[in-house]
Amino acid sequence: MASESVTDAPVRRDQAVRAAVEQGLLTGAEPVVCLLDVAGIRASAAALHAAFEAVTRPGTTVLHAFAVKAAPLVPVLRLLSAAGIGCEVASAGELALARAAGVLPSRTVLDSPAKTPGELREALALGIAVNADSAQELARLDAFVPTAPAGPPLGLRVNPQIGGGSIGALSTATATSKFGVALRDEGARAWVVRTYRERPWLTRLHTHTGSQGVPLELMAQGVREVYELAEEINAAVGHRQVDTLDIGGGLPVNFASDDETPTFSEYARLLADTVPGLFDGRYGLVTEFGRSLLAKHGTVVARVEYAKTSGGRPIAVTHAGVQLATRTVFAPASWPLRIAAYDAKGRPKAGPAVPQDVAGPACFAADLLAESRPLPLLEQGDLVAVLDTGAYYFANPFAYNSLARPGVHGFTTSPDDPGRGVRFATVRTPQTLDEIVAESGGAHSDALLDTRTT
Ligand SMILES: *Cc1c(COP(=O)(O)O)cnc(C)c1O
Repeated sequence: MASESVTDAPVRRDQAVRAAVEQGLLTGAEPVVCLLDVAGIRASAAALHAAFEAVTRPGTTVLHAFAVKAAPLVPVLRLLSAAGIGCEVASAGELALARAAGVLPSRTVLDSPAKTPGELREALALGIAVNADSAQELARLDAFVPTAPAGPPLGLRVNPQIGGGSIGALSTATATSKFGVALRDEGARAWVVRTYRERPWLTRLHTHTGSQGVPLELMAQGVREVYELAEEINAAVGHRQVDTLDIGGGLPVNFASDDETPTFSEYARLLADTVPGLFDGRYGLVTEFGRSLLAKHGTVVARVEYAKTSGGRPIAVTHAGVQLATRTVFAPASWPLRIAAYDAKGRPKAGPAVPQDVAGPACFAADLLAESRPLPLLEQGDLVAVLDTGAYYFANPFAYNSLARPGVHGFTTSPDDPGRGVRFATVRTPQTLDEIVAESGGAHSDALLDTRTT
């Protein structure tokens, strides 16, 4: 089953918030911290493996590669790697993180619509699988492939152009998406088949139909399109040249409750129903899930610095805002987040629900995590927990107002021994003021004064 972990997750979260206060993680100087539930992450990794094992013919090669952009944190990549999950990277930076986490090249996949010649050459030299995004990128690979000693698997990303989901910004299979080779454009399909015939080293096909907001059925349809294309290519070349299908990620996350739905097994079963040939052992598989592996396991805990009212509306001014929940602040209708109220000691706060705004610290009016949200009335010194923020939230901070990137702590609880309590491990230290100055040009403070020509 895919979601055993969820029954305990809210309990573990409450324990962790309380322990964060008791163990002094939250201080005056550090009024916001980010927590990661290690047991939850492990359970999601295990659920992903089990879901695909249940539908895949034994002996099939399956690489689950975590989409690093969802949580670009080295200890997280290493934890996932220990749980048998590789990395999908889309920049030199993400590749460096995967390498720092010790993820093997053979368990790393490079995607991105804008790979430079240097990135392509490095990937080939290291033996990292690459999915080319365009005809021009393939032309670059043409020049590099004969000299690459390691010979990693290479593929082409295609866009089945089957339409988008409810969040346009994350829909990658629309008619005019910037990603991949647009398969339904005139002549494109024939071009793809010819391209594979001319390049025997192209052995993979890749698609990623979208992320949050794309219905499961549409994702499965995208995978079916890529499977059918592989069959067509292999029939045209007369042998099994395409031997691996990379089906991307995109499983949506439930941001409305603690239920983990849909599950990896629901998606795997839907794929097995929609594309039966996918799992019969003729194709190796790569997946690239991000949000669905991490989102439910992250919590931002922030102190309410002030409580005030404005126009009769109660407002809790906290230290969690746009720097941690960028998408929610800029697109609140698409990215609502749950918020839980705790008292100053980290105990769940009770009381009648009062509609109130939960605001962040940044200097613009829309820096709100929730508007008119019914919660027990928050007071100065209370805590708010911003839930389901383990993917694409605190891991992807935004430098507005030079707000420091907060520290990230993994936590484990001992259910059999509550006395031993919660243990924290540092995943990322909070950014220091010196680091903020340094990354803001601090070493070049005179640079613009010296404007004489040289
Ligand atoms: C972002 C991305 C993913 C991961 O998407 P999730 O919705 O986080 O699962 C996978 N593959 C590619 C190519 C991506 O761009």
